Amino acid sequence: MSARAEEVAARLEDVRRRIRDACAEAGRPDDDVSLVVVTKFFPASDVRLLADLGVTDVGENRHQEAEAKERECADLGLRWHFIGGLQSNKAAAVASYADVVESLDRRKLVTPLSRGAGARGQQVDVLLQVSLDPPGAGHRAGVDPDDLAALADAVGESTDLRLRGLMAVAPLGEDPAEAFARLARIRATFLEAHPDATVLSAGMSGDLEQAIRHGATHVRVGSAVLGERPAVK
Ligand SMILES: *Cc1c(COP(=O)(O)O)cnc(C)c1O
Repeated sequence: MSARAEEVAARLEDVRRRIRDACAEAGRPDDDVSLVVVTKFFPASDVRLLADLGVTDVGENRHQEAEAKERECADLGLRWHFIGGLQSNKAAAVASYADVVESLDRRKLVTPLSRGAGARGQQVDVLLQVSLDPPGAGHRAGVDPDDLAALADAVGESTDLRLRGLMAVAPLGEDPAEAFARLARIRATFLEAHPDATVLSAGMSGDLEQAIRHGATHVRVGSAVLGERPAVK
């Protein structure tokens, strides 16, 4: 094994142990929580290493990088999650290769995403990204919880998109446990109307334990598995 492979294997084992421990603590079975390794900024060679180590799901947040890497790694049979901010003029292209679009946060994205999925001839799974920013904070990404039901209805009208659940990022400067507790309440209401949309993507390298305690079914972990990201160019 190369030094890089050994490093990634050790870090991955540590993250898997953290997930198991958090599940045990929350009284949940281990297989309740799936790991999505966030490979943004890391090369396709790392994606290959991850696939060798049994990783099945990877996440990317920038369209061009994601598209190129997905193409380079098409033989690996991975599930590609798009987790970044979506521009409406890129949304159709993203739906042409992403298996899961986790960052659907406004109505304007529904039509282009549907078009991309339709052109591909395959339903694309989507998660609605919910903002956990305090009200009035001028949030960065995510639908306001008050507008979630309407957005879900808009997605429900598309036969090319499959609504699987919710995604969220804990806001900076707040205890993630409190943000995820809020998310759990939002999700409970959401599930009453969409009982099959059971995915909850929440938790990253620094807060996956708190997310699992509050019901996350998917954690998106980058730096804890792959190391510090190279500086943005
Ligand atoms: C980068 C990123 C992650 C992973 O963050 P780490 O702290 O490196 O684990 C998770 N979710 C989203 C939306 C991201 O952009």
